[in-house]
Amino acid sequence: MNKKEAAKYKDMLILLKARVRGDVEQLTDEALTGHDGASGANSPTHIAELGTDAYEQDFALRFVENDQEVLAEIEAALERIEEGTYGVCESCKEAGRAPSKSQIRKTRLKAIPYARNCIECERKREELSI
Ligand SMILES: [Zn+2]
Repeated sequence: MNKKEAAKYKDMLILLKARVRGDVEQLTDEALTGHDGASGANSPTHIAELGTDAYEQDFALRFVENDQEVLAEIEAALERIEEGTYGVCESCKEAGRAPSKSQIRKTRLKAIPYARNCIECERKREELSI
């Protein structure tokens, strides 16, 4: 991937980071104060029916955890851009494939700019984790 292209993905990652981080702050506030304001109507009813605050708090914090994971992935992707290894599938590289045959497809990067693996490797990983 050339520098101009990498810069484009860098912009996407920075935008995504800002968005995710905004969501994290909002979610953390809600989770810790217990005030869900006007958004209460968005809670699935079956969770409300369970009725325990602890459960709801745990549930909300779990979303935050996922966002933190995404943020970590975004940071890692930004580092790969700096290193010039962005867009190369880590699993393919580990398997010893040539860099030219380890590229993550552009359509995938556009959908998930922080993807570490090409779709083929990701599928294999998912199959293994089931
Ligand atoms: Zn791969």
